[in-house]
Parts: sequence; structure tokens; C-alpha cells
Amino acid sequence: MSELDARVAAVRENISRAAARAGRSPDEITMIAVTKFHPASLVAALYDAGVRDVGENRHQEAEAKAAELDALDGLTWHFVGQLQSKKAKRVARYARVVHSVDRDSVVDALAGAEHAVGCFVQVALSVDDHRGGAPLADVERLAERIVATDGLSLLGVMAVAPLGAEPREAFARLRSVSDDIRRIEPSATSISAGMSGDFEDAILEGATHLRIGTAITGKRPATP
Ligand SMILES: *Cc1c(COP(=O)(O)O)cnc(C)c1O
Repeated sequence: MSELDARVAAVRENISRAAARAGRSPDEITMIAVTKFHPASLVAALYDAGVRDVGENRHQEAEAKAAELDALDGLTWHFVGQLQSKKAKRVARYARVVHSVDRDSVVDALAGAEHAVGCFVQVALSVDDHRGGAPLADVERLAERIVATDGLSLLGVMAVAPLGAEPREAFARLRSVSDDIRRIEPSATSISAGMSGDFEDAILEGATHLRIGTAITGKRPATP
């Protein structure tokens, strides 16, 4: 078994264990391997290890890798980074899921893609944290805008635990935002939360989509 295979197996094992603690089935949890800064060859190796969901946070890099790996059947690209409306249309060509919808202009730019795009509204859980996301006051309106837009489907809410915050407490707040959103769109049951350092806490608070980078890929190269 390669080092990469071993890390994938270890993360899967930890996901199963946390799911069991939460009384949940691991089958309802999607592990997204965040491959930013790593070459397409690493994504191909993850594919060989059985990974079918990968995440990227920069459009140009993601677009190039998706083009290079076009032949890998059933590989889903998730866009998880901050998104400018200028680039959103192009992101929608290769990404089936966008986790970082935080502005009306991004919703509008994603509309009209050739294929359906699943959207998460990214929620800013702290006002003084600049890791992206819509202020709480805007989240319901954005959710309604996604639901009303042809070609987009609202999957749920996404957040990054604020720096310095207790992740479990932050994810509990995200869960309550998710409850509010489900009143608008009952099918929007997904919660994108949890990274290498805090995915177990996210699972305990209902996360359905984990965005895990370094725990799977190892250390990121300094530059792509
Ligand atoms: C890089 C990144 C991740 C993965 O982070 P790790 O700490 O390497 O697991 C998750 N979510 C977003 C939005 C990211 O940019």
C-alpha cells in the first residue's frame, strides 16, 4: 500500500469512527479530497485509491487539472474557494458543486451552465474573520435566490470554522443555520463543514460533506 493509499484509508477509518460516535452512517458523508497546489498526477493517484470527489479553491488551477483529467469517469470536481462572479461562469463548466456561494452576483453568474450546479451558501460564522462567506443576515435571501434560479440546486450550507474559535461550537451554529434553510427548501439537507483538523467535530454536528486536504494529500507544496 502506498503512503497515499494509507492516508486515504486512515481518514476513511476516522470518518467511520466519528460517524459511529454520532450515531450516523458513514454512507451519508461525502469525503472530498482537497487537492489545491498539488499536480493532476496526485488527483489521478487518489482516483486509483477510490476517491471520486475532489476539491479545488483556485479557478485557473482547477480548470487546468479538470481538463487534464477529463477521461477519469465519475470524478466530481467541487469548487471550495472564494469566487468572483467574473470567473463563476467558467467554474460552472467543470465543477458540479460550488461550496462558496456568498453573493447574488455569483448566483447569477452560475446560472445557465450547461449542466446543473449544486450550490452551498457559504456562511461567515464570525464577522471579523475573512475566510469568505455571507453574513448571517444574507443567508436566507441567497438560498431563496438559488432555489429560484434555473439550473442551480440548493444543497445546503457551508462554513469554515473561524480561526481561534472552538470548531464544535462553530459547527453547532452552522447546523442551526441549516435548520433555518431547510424551512425554505426541505431538500437542502447538506452541510459542508470540517477540514483536516476538525472533521470529527463537524461530523458530530451533522456535516455531510467534508473538505479534507492535508490529512489525505500530505503537506501542500508551497507553490502550485
Ligand atoms: C484548503 C481548504 C480545505 C482543506 O484544508 P486542510 O486543512 O488541508 O484539510 C478545506 N476547505 C477550504 C475552503 C479550503 O480552502
